[in-house]
Amino acid sequence: MHCCVACLSVLLIQAAQAQSVAFTFDDGPNLEATPRLSAQQRNAAMLAALRKHGVQAALFVTAGNGADRPEGLALARAWGEAGHAIGNHTMTHPDLNSAKLALAQYQQEVLDCAPTPMPTWRPSAPPICRT
Ligand SMILES: [Zn+2]
Repeated sequence: MHCCVACLSVLLIQAAQAQSVAFTFDDGPNLEATPRLSAQQRNAAMLAALRKHGVQAALFVTAGNGADRPEGLALARAWGEAGHAIGNHTMTHPDLNSAKLALAQYQQEVLDCAPTPMPTWRPSAPPICRT
């Protein structure tokens, strides 16, 4: 009987994990307007939709896409202030499949993106890195 309880617990944990979905948004923030929305309107609409549905997400910042400027930093900061995770997606989003990209260059890309101050970045822990 004890084994069945343990097995059931494992199965429930596996079932819960199998139904998990992670919402991540790469290459943000993007300062370009679309035909219908400014960057600020789009950012606010995305955050409102996530809040409405109770979704915690992650924004992977490519700092060179705008987070290196005050208006872009404000967009990314809004994600952190809303409780979403902020990840490091490098400074310029280099092509990791390129044989021309050396490890040192990649490391510098991550470091160049990391100092951007975000509410949910913790200097004592490495930021989430995603390429
Ligand atoms: Zn990307």
